[in-house]
Amino acid sequence: MKEKGLLIVLSGPSGVGKGTVRKAIFSHEDTNFEYSISMTTRKPREGEVDGVDYFFKSRDEFEALIKQDKLLEYAEYVGNYYGTPIDYVKETLNSGKDVFLEIEVQGAKQVREKFPEGLFIFLAPPSLMELQSRIVTRGTESDELINNRMKEARKEIEMMNLYDYVVENDQVEAACDRIKAIVLAEHCKTSRI
Ligand code: 5GP
Repeated sequence: MKEKGLLIVLSGPSGVGKGTVRKAIFSHEDTNFEYSISMTTRKPREGEVDGVDYFFKSRDEFEALIKQDKLLEYAEYVGNYYGTPIDYVKETLNSGKDVFLEIEVQGAKQVREKFPEGLFIFLAPPSLMELQSRIVTRGTESDELINNRMKEARKEIEMMNLYDYVVENDQVEAACDRIKAIVLAEHCKTSRI
């Protein structure tokens, strides 16, 4: 029987650069993890494409998916739902490929309960101040949203001890290299052979 793939969870505060790191990793030719596209009720930002960045859903559609047990995890974050479609994750892992989730911490905690054997990596900002200025510089959020995100971020940073590894996002390519090295090491663990 083919070995099951590894479930890789990258989490950390919004604004820390998870999306940038994830996109950089997937732009590398030697990356062979599959990206799990999330569902969200958030409105698309400029340039975001349905089915590429997210599957954009209405609240009713999302709540129906929750009821039908179609989500591996979900969280309500700053007024919107975000969740991971379960079928894609299971099918991909069963086919022997690694699946990469980029999700916030409430969701990561739920995945930990269902897949304790997963690999949980926390992407940390060099400092909270840096995080704040990164969110402000992005310029897509109102002051109220920024404050809400900062509150979330402080809680999330306290939670980093729940993860297997912490990677500081000081430089995108350096963070990618560390994440890929961690995945490689996980595959070489005696317990996986
Ligand atoms: P954004 O609105 O900036 O795209 O995402 C907000 C937060 O939701 C980010 O921390 C992002 O990683 C997280 N997120 C994206 N997809 C999911 C998901 O499927 N589940 C959970 N729990 N969080 C997600």
